[in-house]
Amino acid sequence: MALDIKIQPIKNSKISNVDFSDLPFGKVFSDHIFQCEYIDGAWQNPIIKANEPIQLNPAAKIFHYGQSIFEGMKAYKDANGEVFLFRPEDNCKRLNLSANRLMMPEIPADLFMQGLKKLLEIDSDWIPTTEGSSLYVRPFMFASGEGLHASPADSYIFMIAAAPSGAYFSGRITVLIEEKYARAANGGVGFAKAGGNYAAQFYPTQLAIEKGYNQVVWTDDNSHQFIEEAGAMNIFIRIGDVLITSPTNDRILDGITRKSILQIAEDHNIPVEVRKISVSEVVQAAKDGDLKEMFGAGTAAVISPIAGFGYQEADYELPELSDTYASFFKKKIIAIQTNTSKDPYGWRVKV
Ligand SMILES: *Cc1c(COP(=O)(O)O)cnc(C)c1O
Repeated sequence: MALDIKIQPIKNSKISNVDFSDLPFGKVFSDHIFQCEYIDGAWQNPIIKANEPIQLNPAAKIFHYGQSIFEGMKAYKDANGEVFLFRPEDNCKRLNLSANRLMMPEIPADLFMQGLKKLLEIDSDWIPTTEGSSLYVRPFMFASGEGLHASPADSYIFMIAAAPSGAYFSGRITVLIEEKYARAANGGVGFAKAGGNYAAQFYPTQLAIEKGYNQVVWTDDNSHQFIEEAGAMNIFIRIGDVLITSPTNDRILDGITRKSILQIAEDHNIPVEVRKISVSEVVQAAKDGDLKEMFGAGTAAVISPIAGFGYQEADYELPELSDTYASFFKKKIIAIQTNTSKDPYGWRVKV
């Protein structure tokens, strides 16, 4: 069923002001935004309009009680100008998991998909084609309903914005294994893409930056003995030839990149273990020369190799291998995303 999305095109595109050969990450936005409002118990008024400031009442609950969730995905354009998304239904499902946990209304899948596709059609000129860049797509929802009572809002806004973006990280990445702070706790909201999770990461991350690292590797909140995530990415560790990642739980986000890597690894006979990884095991492997790779996995960076880590005042270097799992998975995933290889999984969705 085609939804009746109102289209309010802007008069003058901003695209000629943008240098597509030197794109930052998530700072430049396309001309339009998709918006839909949840009022009186129903989603209504779907519209694509200029991406410009919006008005909210200062008592909107987003400002006070943090009902705010988001997703991150990418759109790519192939050599023939066809536009593709990567596993977008999974983003929609996860947004709704986050919505349920934060007492926010679910978005119907067809509203999400039709809004997304229509926006990409209208702003398709904004999808970069240079290697390493893409159109980063940010669906998000927040409480627009007013009142200072600490209870769920009665109205919400859902939007999809798009930002032509270059690489998320550049240069050598080192990480600090966290011993004090936690990103998420049992029974909490770590598995949701809830805005507050990221706000809570900034302070410990800043402490790590002041010590000379780029990112924090999160450990479990209870014992800090087990490795869980790397910044806002899932983490993979290669010891010998075995690829290890933590199982998902309350505290760990179920990443689409992570599960794609696990599938590709299985199909290429790469030995994988999904199990708890202790910090002591990783430190010991580093000392013994068995620690081959550590990398983060997430939509923004796809795969982000880690060059070294710090733990208890000591620094450990990862070897510089010529043939890494990280580059193998990155190539495979990007080839599927950009339509330069077959897609045996049906992950690529044509817009
Ligand atoms: C978004 C996110 C990831 C990666 O998920 P993808 O679906 O691969 O983008 C991992 N960890 C956290 C905390 C995240 O927010």
